[in-house]
Amino acid sequence: MTVKHITNIIEKFAPLSLQIKNDNCGLLVGYENANVSGIIITLDVTLDTINEAIREGCNLIISHHPFIFNGLTEINHDTVRGKMIYEAIKHNINIYSAHTNVDACKGGLNDHLASLFGLKNVKPYTECEIGRVGTLAKPITLADLAVIAKNNFDEEVKIIGDPQKEIKTLVVSGGSCPDDTMLYKALYIHKADCIITSDIRHHASLWVRESGFSAVIASHFATEISFCEIIKQLLQKEFQNKNSQTNKSQDQTKTLNIIISKTQKAPQLNVK
Ligand SMILES: [Zn+2]
Repeated sequence: MTVKHITNIIEKFAPLSLQIKNDNCGLLVGYENANVSGIIITLDVTLDTINEAIREGCNLIISHHPFIFNGLTEINHDTVRGKMIYEAIKHNINIYSAHTNVDACKGGLNDHLASLFGLKNVKPYTECEIGRVGTLAKPITLADLAVIAKNNFDEEVKIIGDPQKEIKTLVVSGGSCPDDTMLYKALYIHKADCIITSDIRHHASLWVRESGFSAVIASHFATEISFCEIIKQLLQKEFQNKNSQTNKSQDQTKTLNIIISKTQKAPQLNVK
């Protein structure tokens, strides 16, 4: 089982063509023909993740966020990113990123968010088809929706808008809030009452409130951490199918260690 075998499975589910402009999905460190000893799935790649992979004997890290973006001009051990690349290569760790393609794909992150809130008539809301818009089974107040979000995300959430406002049509968009144009489209063009997202900036927040729309804001980490479970289940399902087709009970895929990183944590913490 090579890195390429694994990334083919992911790209069949979430084709790279779905990634938005300037994203950097794909194999960022390593080589396609490397044999996979184990897989660690994480939202972000940090030095902790790389050390965890080494400890667990996993030579493939699958992350949601690409840790290499444009502008890489050196691999210098004295910089945070340089040290990660250097350590990964030194220990034969391959690092693959599946980012906005997994946000956008059918059954991906935003479809998962839509199902978490029980949305019906779900459809993509932007040209690049990242977020989803749908309707709640019955209208609820913004305050009640915030409680559901708090339970779903297992953390405190913030709201923008009148807590008693009735919400029927809802947009979900995991991770960074769409830019102001996308936010406008999501709420105004689709006539949505509310958006559930993270990282909405001050001026966009004002626009939401002053336009009479609502928002529920959770952390970037909380809205996207399900990435790990989605990819884990995808791989396990694929391996099970493969094993039942080939009838090989000792197929390597059955014994391949696939773990969700235990060292990952949100970079921002609430102080109580
Ligand atoms: Zn994100």
